[in-house]
Amino acid sequence: MNTTIPVSPSCCDETDPNSLTVEQALAKIDELISPVDETLNVGLQDALHAVLAEDVISPINVPPYRNSAMDGYAVRSEDLPTDDTASLRVVGTSWAGTPFEGKVKAGECIRIMTGAKMPDGADTVIMQEHVQREGDTLTLGTGHCAGQNVRHAGEDIARGKPVLQAGKHIGPAELGLLASLGVPTVTVKRKLKVAFFSTGDELRPVGEVLEEGQIYDSNRYSLFGMLKELDVEIIDLGVIPDDRQAVEDAFDRAAELADAVITSGGVSVGDADFVKETLDRLGTVNFWKIAMKPGKPLAFGKIREAFFFGLPGNPVSVMSTFYLFTQPALQRLMGQDKVGTLSLKVPCSEALKKRPGRTDYQRGILQRDERGNMTVRSVGKQASHILSGMSQANCFIVLPRESGNIEAGSLVEVMPFRGLM
Ligand code: AMP
Ligand code: MG
Repeated sequence: MNTTIPVSPSCCDETDPNSLTVEQALAKIDELISPVDETLNVGLQDALHAVLAEDVISPINVPPYRNSAMDGYAVRSEDLPTDDTASLRVVGTSWAGTPFEGKVKAGECIRIMTGAKMPDGADTVIMQEHVQREGDTLTLGTGHCAGQNVRHAGEDIARGKPVLQAGKHIGPAELGLLASLGVPTVTVKRKLKVAFFSTGDELRPVGEVLEEGQIYDSNRYSLFGMLKELDVEIIDLGVIPDDRQAVEDAFDRAAELADAVITSGGVSVGDADFVKETLDRLGTVNFWKIAMKPGKPLAFGKIREAFFFGLPGNPVSVMSTFYLFTQPALQRLMGQDKVGTLSLKVPCSEALKKRPGRTDYQRGILQRDERGNMTVRSVGKQASHILSGMSQANCFIVLPRESGNIEAGSLVEVMPFRGLM
């Protein structure tokens, strides 16, 4: 038999002419995905982490009335002294929730609390620390500005103005904002249903004893965690063995149940054959090689009506490809506006190994040095099965495709895993 052994790139060659860049893959995914249509009306607390399906127009002014920003005295700016001190008569009090009913006339003032309604006639608040009071007589000095310490009606939000746009993810600030408008319910996109399973004969569920050649199925747990944070409805279909019928049944079931199906493992060249065959029968799925590390193989497409993300099997690759491709795609499917990923340029405190050809997402630790400046360093071992590194890290160090080794002190791009909210 005359077999031709293809000239394969050596293991040192990172450049594969058939691979897609991260940006190309993202663009292809974006092209195919459009948001779910169904919406529902929910009470505010149930709207946390949902995506607004309609603009919210403010039915009121916020603040609803002119009020004091300080505990102090509400005065008329005409009565503010310019050279000497001035004395005013305290004629009443405005409490938060119990306004002063009368009008402040020349030579008069009232005691006022933070948030209390400004009385007619007065336009300025003097902090209580800046006056002297004896009985009903208030003495104030110079240096006050007309209009100070007053919050105006509609200063935050004016009645009739759009406050939040469709596509906005509802977080704690949005919940508070909506409540400040007195809005009891909002129309949001329905929750996404996401099914996922692991593939591989070597995988054992946690709680069982490992036999020779077996490992625990960790991907299903990191996937569960990442999906939980997106607040989707999770459908965990377990571990599916490397068996043609079992894989076909699992895909069939997942596509039936969910808007999106995520798998890990079984999409790299070696073992993709029957997965690929099955998917060709059930839908249209592309098998890509992405010029990134970790996470080279990625399958994306549709199984009937469901979107499909076939992530690589290696535990770190699952997380990097999920965060880079699946998470933004799911967010778009939920109808959420594009979320810009935070990235910073900081000096790397040590040299990093890198071969040109693929964009590296190395696991890094972003921290302040002794002088308070941000620097980043590697967690150490960078192979795609080292999941402990993902836990030690607080950021990806993103090294561009064509870049080679990084010298200590060079500026590198980092993507922090978390911000404040
Ligand atoms: P595969 O893409 O199926 O060839 O898997 C690549 C590597 O990832 C192999 O070492 C697998 O054992 C490992 N792997 C696949 N699935 C899982 C999983 N669910 N949990 C942990 N490791 C996995
Ligand atoms: Mg496998």
